[in-house]
Amino acid sequence: MDNARGGRTLFIAGEWCETGDGRTFEVTDPSNGKVIGLAADAGAAETERAVAAAKAAFPGWSRATAYQRADVLRAAHVLMVERREELARLMTEEQGKPLKAARNEVRYAADFLEWFAEEAKRVYGRTIPSARADQRFLVTRQPVGVVAGITPWNYPISMITRKVAPAIAAGCTIVLKPAEQTPLCAVAVFDILAEAGLPAGVANLVTTSTPEPVADVLLDSPDVRKLTFTGSTEVGKLLAGRAAATMKRVSMELGGHAPFLVFDDADPVHAAKGAALVKFLNAGQACICPNRIYVHRSIMEPFSAALVERVGRLRVGPGSQDGVDVGPLVDAAAIEKVRGHVRDAAAKGARVLVGGERLDSGELADGTFFAPTVLADVDSTMRIYREETFGPVAALIPFDHEDEAIELANDTEYGLASYVYTRDLGRAVRVSEALRFGIVGVNDINPTAAAAPFGGVGVSGLGREGGAEGIDEYLDVKLVGLAVP
Ligand code: NAP
Repeated sequence: MDNARGGRTLFIAGEWCETGDGRTFEVTDPSNGKVIGLAADAGAAETERAVAAAKAAFPGWSRATAYQRADVLRAAHVLMVERREELARLMTEEQGKPLKAARNEVRYAADFLEWFAEEAKRVYGRTIPSARADQRFLVTRQPVGVVAGITPWNYPISMITRKVAPAIAAGCTIVLKPAEQTPLCAVAVFDILAEAGLPAGVANLVTTSTPEPVADVLLDSPDVRKLTFTGSTEVGKLLAGRAAATMKRVSMELGGHAPFLVFDDADPVHAAKGAALVKFLNAGQACICPNRIYVHRSIMEPFSAALVERVGRLRVGPGSQDGVDVGPLVDAAAIEKVRGHVRDAAAKGARVLVGGERLDSGELADGTFFAPTVLADVDSTMRIYREETFGPVAALIPFDHEDEAIELANDTEYGLASYVYTRDLGRAVRVSEALRFGIVGVNDINPTAAAAPFGGVGVSGLGREGGAEGIDEYLDVKLVGLAVP
């Protein structure tokens, strides 16, 4: 274990500190179960201090010019790009994804710092003509105030910059609680913000192994005016309900159950390549991973053959090793959930074409690895058809007609990402318009960028992150009616 910081992982009012009683929790490497560091195990008292620090910093930061705020974000962007390799290695160790994917995530995370440095300068207002000659209307946008951010472990750096960057660009201050599994990545981001010159109290970090007491303070405090959450739909519903008591604004980036439609005019081998790349991204632990892959019956055979061939070639192992495509799942509970979905489907008639079991021999013995899996003949009676698997299992379902495919794809309460493979332009337009999802990839498996709005409909959430929309979530609209006698 190498963690020179010990338990000093709280960043409050510009100071790194530990909890009042020095309580810590262990952070582990999911590829081998080894302890890699310690994090401060904060509770209500530390969170109250963080909220007070954010409140005290708000008047000054909200009055800083957009150019001053942009300068800090740009400096943080430069530092993050410079430290890309170091951050990627930390992420692989703490979260498990292969190094190449971790490097991509650091780049994506840095993009939000740069993008919102620019957007800070584009918080425009407008004037509205009045029916009265002696009146003018001015519309301005102002920071909402103190923000509480709660983030997940699966994208442990980019999910933080996607919130912190627009919040501070808008002139808000923030208290962030990262996931229990990945506090060290959060510490690395806050080190960068501090070095970039962010004034004390503007961004505060509270690490904990027990979210409830921290969340209680964040949710109950009337000083916190906005909650931005990325995580499961189950927890998101709970938090959004609680936030209503103090009428906080909320942004919710929640679970997904993405459909992936492959029409008979698509190239089945090309589509199978896309399906494999996006399904096994982060070992299937991404909110945009397809959970249902619908393939036209006439090309199911070549599609599934190409998919199985690719999946069979994926190398599973510790993300730090060269050539590894699929790392470990986050913990033992994730293995149990994935195994449960596979067993339930198999018991109800699905065929396991490849994979299907935990991998725990040799060097994988102490990690949480699951074999990349393809299931054929999946149907709506199976758990995998409704529940987010969050693991490396591709579920194949045949269809016969375009209308049927749309109906099946929309047969979910989730509405985050969706994918369509077709070479027919008219069909691409018809289907993408009919899909009830916040994001549609047409022959495209990576429909995300800092410059583009990301978010879902239905139980996948509220609001958008990234794009021009991303900063709106942190701004209130103010109307000034001006009498001009
Ligand atoms: P999670 O269990 O909901 O946890 C997310 C965050 O909420 C963590 O920081 C967690 O803290 C905290 N939390 C859990 N219970 C809480 C409670 N009762 N009160 C306050 N905070 C609480 O989700 P996860 O397993 O980390 O992440 C996976 C989920 O995130 C998936 O459903 C995925 O689809 C979704 N996701 C969505 C997006 C998107 O942009 N839409 C992006 C990435 C992930 P602890 O870690 O301490 O438990």
